[in-house]
Amino acid sequence: MAKGSRSEFDLIGRFFADLGASRADVLLGVGDDCALLEIPADVAMAVSIDTLVAGTHFFHDCDAEGLGHKSLAVGLSDLAAMGAAPAWATLALTLPERDDAWLAAFARGFGDLARTYGMRLVGGDTTRGPLSVTVQVHGLVRAGAAVRRDGARPGDILWVSGTLGDAGLALGLIREGRPVDPALRTRLERPVPRVELGSALRGIATAMIDLSDGLAADLGHILAASGVGAELEFTSLPLSPAVASRIASDGDWSLPLSSGDDYELCFCAPSERSGLIASMAAGLGCALTAVGRIHAEPGLILKGPDGAPMRLSRTGYDHFANNT
Ligand code: ADP
Ligand code: MG
Repeated sequence: MAKGSRSEFDLIGRFFADLGASRADVLLGVGDDCALLEIPADVAMAVSIDTLVAGTHFFHDCDAEGLGHKSLAVGLSDLAAMGAAPAWATLALTLPERDDAWLAAFARGFGDLARTYGMRLVGGDTTRGPLSVTVQVHGLVRAGAAVRRDGARPGDILWVSGTLGDAGLALGLIREGRPVDPALRTRLERPVPRVELGSALRGIATAMIDLSDGLAADLGHILAASGVGAELEFTSLPLSPAVASRIASDGDWSLPLSSGDDYELCFCAPSERSGLIASMAAGLGCALTAVGRIHAEPGLILKGPDGAPMRLSRTGYDHFANNT
C-alpha cells in the first residue's frame, strides 16, 4: 500500500475503525491524526508495547484469528501484571500484501478479545513489508496502587497462576512436526491473560510479573528489582498432565522453568495472605499455587524432590543471547 493511499484508508475503515468495546472516555478514536482519550484525575496510565514478528514469534502460515487474539493478549498480560484495568490499544500492522480474508480473521481475533476486556482500538499504523504486528496497550490504575516488580520482601510466599510449560511443549511438538492436542495448542496460540487475577491482587501482592520468558528468567526480574533472593521448589510447580508426563519421561524441568509464552502471573505476598489467596482461585477460574519463598540473600535456589538443586538446560528466552 502506498502511504496514505485510498486502499490503505479503505482497509483501515473496513477492518479497524470499529474494533473492541465502545468507551465514553474515547473522545476521538480511529480516523484523525491522534486519538483523544480522557484520563480521570488520580489515575495513572499503564502503557506497554509488544511486537510479534513472523518467523520469530509466530509461524508465517499461522491462523490469523489466533494471531489477532495473541497480539493483544500479550499486552493484556502486561496490564494484568500491574493490576491495571485495560482501556485502549493501538495497532501497528506491517503486511506483505492486502488479503481481506486474513485481515477479517485477524480483526475478529483482536476485536473479540478487546471486547471481552472492555477495551477499544483507538488508532494505529498500517504499512507494507514483512509481516509483523505491534500492539500498544493502555490501562488505568489508581495512582500508587499498581503492583510493581520491586516490592518483594523476605518471607513473602511466591505464587504462580495456572500451569506452566504448556505453550513451550506445544511449540516443541509443532516444530518437530508431531501431533499436538488441541487444548495444548490453544495454550500457545490463544493465551488467556490473567486480567481479573491481576486486578484482584492489588493491595495483596507485594510484587508481580507476567510469565513471557519462563519462570526462572521472569522471577529473576522480580528478585533483581526487589534486591532479594528466592527458593523455588520444583515439586510444587503446577503442571498439566501433558507437561508432567514429558518431565517424567526425560527428567528435564526446562518446560515449566524456562520455556516462554505461558502468560501466567508470578507474584509475591506476605504469608498471612496465603489463606485469602488460596480462597480466591475458585472465583477466578485459575489455579493459584505456592511454589517457593522469598529470601534476603540474593540468588535463585532451585530445589528438587530430594532437596538437591536440579539441572536446567536453558534459563529462558533472550532474543539477543546465542540461544538458538
Ligand atoms: P497519519 O498519516 O496521520 O499518521 P494514518 O494514515 O497512518 O495517519 O492513519 C489514519 C488513521 O487510521 C489514524 O487515526 C490512525 O490511528 C488509524 N490507523 C491506521 N492504521 C491503523 C490500524 N492498523 N489499526 C487501527 N487504526 C489505524
Ligand atoms: Mg497525520
